[in-house]
Amino acid sequence: MLIGGLQKFSLIDFPGKPCAIVFTQGCNFRCPYCHNPELVYREQFNEPLSENVVLDFLQKRAGLLEAVTVSGGEATLQPDLPDFLRMVKGMGYQTKLETNGTNPAMLRELIDENLLDAIAMDIKAPLFKYASVSGAANLTGAVTASLDIVKAAPLIKEFRTTFDKTLLSEEDIAAIRALCGGVKYTVSPCLPVEKEPLTRRMTMTVLPRVEQPSAKTPEACLA
Ligand code: SF4
Repeated sequence: MLIGGLQKFSLIDFPGKPCAIVFTQGCNFRCPYCHNPELVYREQFNEPLSENVVLDFLQKRAGLLEAVTVSGGEATLQPDLPDFLRMVKGMGYQTKLETNGTNPAMLRELIDENLLDAIAMDIKAPLFKYASVSGAANLTGAVTASLDIVKAAPLIKEFRTTFDKTLLSEEDIAAIRALCGGVKYTVSPCLPVEKEPLTRRMTMTVLPRVEQPSAKTPEACLA
């Protein structure tokens, strides 16, 4: 996989478990509010991290960390994502995918092979506005197919929307919520890009102990 970053520890990116986050490079959307341009625009890519180095880190932390979240960019653009998740699952981790929902065939494969325990899918806009908000034409059908797959999947699941008031209205949010079929739906305010640069999110940060889902300490996981 093209891996643009590794956050070695988080208490908030997998439900109830300390996790690492793997960030892949490349995205087929161009959301105007994107906070991860270093993972979207090829000219801003860093030298990719070695997949072997990332897997070696995860192997050493197995039992301290309990889960791995794969985010992006858009991780389902990586054709070897299933292979990567197979290896991570083989180490005993639970896994979560954060996706924009444009690759329903891969979602189907990952779910059918039990390679995921949790999924968070962004819904960028009501379907009629999808192209203008995501910056990508002709992917609404794929998003619709993914919505149905996620809704039916026996996973911990969540739909999410970034609420940029220059792009979406309250009525749009209500229309998106209606697409979610009762699945957990989270609306996040659109923060100024400079408030959350990727470099901050990918820094090996020990978060405040607002929640401690297991006996493992942050220090043990980072050792
Ligand atoms: S889908 Fe996510 S990573 Fe891709 S451009 Fe939109 S916000 Fe950025």
